[in-house]
Amino acid sequence: MKYFSTRGEEQVLSFEETVLTGLAPDGGLYIPEYIPKLPPNWLEEWKEYSFQELSVAVLSLFISPEEIARDELQTLVERSYSTFRHPDITPLHKLSDKIFILELFHGPTFAFKDVALQLLGNLFEFFLLRRNARKSAEEKPEKLTIVGATSGDTGSAAIYGLRNKANISIYILHPKGRVSPIQEAQMTTVTDANVHNLSVKGTFDDCQDIVKSLFADKEFNTKHRLGAINSINWARILAQTVYYFLAYFHAHRQFPSPSPEAHELQFVVPTGNFGDILAGYYAKHMGLPMGKLVIATNENDILARFWKSGRYEKVDSVPADGVAAPVNGASDGKQAVSGVKETLSPAMDILVSSNFERLLWYLAYHIEPSKGRKEACRTLKGWMDKVKADGRVEVPTSVLKLARDDFLAERISDAQTLDTIRDYYTASPSYIADPHTAVGLCAAHIVASTHDPARTTQIVLSTAHPAKFAEAVTCALSDVSQFDFDRDVLPEEFKGLLMKEKRVIDVERAEIELVKEIIERYSAEGEGTARVSA
Ligand SMILES: *Cc1c(COP(=O)(O)O)cnc(C)c1O
Repeated sequence: MKYFSTRGEEQVLSFEETVLTGLAPDGGLYIPEYIPKLPPNWLEEWKEYSFQELSVAVLSLFISPEEIARDELQTLVERSYSTFRHPDITPLHKLSDKIFILELFHGPTFAFKDVALQLLGNLFEFFLLRRNARKSAEEKPEKLTIVGATSGDTGSAAIYGLRNKANISIYILHPKGRVSPIQEAQMTTVTDANVHNLSVKGTFDDCQDIVKSLFADKEFNTKHRLGAINSINWARILAQTVYYFLAYFHAHRQFPSPSPEAHELQFVVPTGNFGDILAGYYAKHMGLPMGKLVIATNENDILARFWKSGRYEKVDSVPADGVAAPVNGASDGKQAVSGVKETLSPAMDILVSSNFERLLWYLAYHIEPSKGRKEACRTLKGWMDKVKADGRVEVPTSVLKLARDDFLAERISDAQTLDTIRDYYTASPSYIADPHTAVGLCAAHIVASTHDPARTTQIVLSTAHPAKFAEAVTCALSDVSQFDFDRDVLPEEFKGLLMKEKRVIDVERAEIELVKEIIERYSAEGEGTARVSA
C-alpha cells in the first residue's frame, strides 16, 4: 500500500515515509491509494478478536508486510496497548438497548488521543531504530525532535506516547499557570530524560507562535529534524479505525437477536479536527456495516454549518442560535464572533478541521470517479485554495448530497452540554460524562428524536474521563446534592499526581531564542540515541 497527497503532488510514499513526514510538502494530507475491502470471512473470523487482534487485522490491510512484518506489527500493537487500564482497551458501556457509550479514555492520560499516540510513538521508534541499524558506524544516527504547544489537554497524551522512546526527544510548551493543576501535573510528572516540559511565561498563543517560528526556521528545523505529532498524521487516523470494529462486535454480542441485519449502528462522535470521525468513515467504506456517522460539534461549528449549507466557511456570519435548534429551549446567549470560541469542551475548540480535507478529497473523487485521482486532487486543491484566499468555499449541491449520504451534523451549545451532563448523572443508570462526551450524547438525543428508525442503536464515542474536565462537570452538578467530585469522579491515579516529583523548565519570557537555547543544550547532551532497542 502506498500513500499520496490530497493536493496531487507526484510522489507516492510508503507507510513509513507517510508516518515520518506527517504533512505533505504541497500542504496536502496523505491518504491511501485505495480503501481496502474487508476480507470475505471477516465477520466470522474477527468476531471474537481482542482489540489488539483487531488492530493487527485492520492495520495490516493498510501496511504492506514488506514494510512491517505481521509479527513485528503484533509486537508494536501489544506494546502500545499494554499501557491501558481496561482489558477491552476501549470498552463498550451499555446505557440502554438504544444507546451505548464507547469509552476511549482508558489510556495513560485518560483521553482518547492515547489510542493513537501510544501506537504512533512506537511506530516512530521502530522506524528510527531500523534506519539507524542499517547505518555504518561513521554515519550519524537519525533522530527526531518533537516540538508542540499545548493549552493543557493534548500535551500529556503526546508526552506519554513518546516518553522513553529511543532517538526521540519531545519538547512541550505550556503557558505557565494557565493550565489546570491536574493537566500540569500529568505533563510535568513524566521525568524521563527525553521529555522536556517548558513552562512559558505567556499565553497559549505565545507558545504556539514560538513553535510555528521554530518550524519555519529552516536551519534550526533541519539541524534538529523537527517533527509534529498533530492529528493530521495518517497513523493516528488508522489507529482509531480499530475501535469502530470492536464496538460493532461488542454491541452485537449484547443484542437479543443474533442477526446482524436486525440492528443498525449509528456512531455519534464529538468532533474537532475531524480525525476521530474520519476513522469511522474509513471503517464504513472498508465494509463495516453502519448507518450514518453523526458529527457532534460545540459552538465552533464550521462542520455543522457545512452540512447545513454546503459552505465551508471560517467565520460565522449567522447568529449562533440560528444554526441548530437548541433542546430544552436552552441558549447561552453568546453571539458568534470571528475566531475560536472558548467553550466547555476545549479539545474541540477549532476554527477549521484539518482532517476534513481528507473527506473533501473523497467527495471530489466519488462525484466523478471516472475522471480519476488526479482530477480529484485538482478539484480539492481548488477548494482548499479558495478557503485560504477567501476564508470560505461552497461545494456543488451534488457534493453536499454525497456528504449527507454518510454524515449528519449537530451543533451543541455550552448550556446544552451542562444540561446533558446533569440529565445523564440523574438518570438511571447514572452516567458521568465529560463535557466532550456530553456534546456527543446531546447530539445523539437530537438525531434520535428527529429521525429514528426503530432498529437504530446509537454508539456515542466518549473522548475523555470526566476528571480531566473538572470545571465543567462540577459546574453542571453543583446543585445535585448527592454529587461529590472526589468520591464520584476523581480516579486514584489523579489523587497522588499532585504530590509526585516534577520535571519542568521555566522559560522566563515568551521568546524563541530562549526556547532554542534549551533545545540546543539538551540535544548536545545527546540523550536518547540508540541503534538497537534497549
Ligand atoms: C481531540 C479531542 C476531540 C476531538 O477529536 P478530533 O479527532 O479532533 O475530531 C474530542 N474530545 C477530546 C477530549 C479530545 O481530546
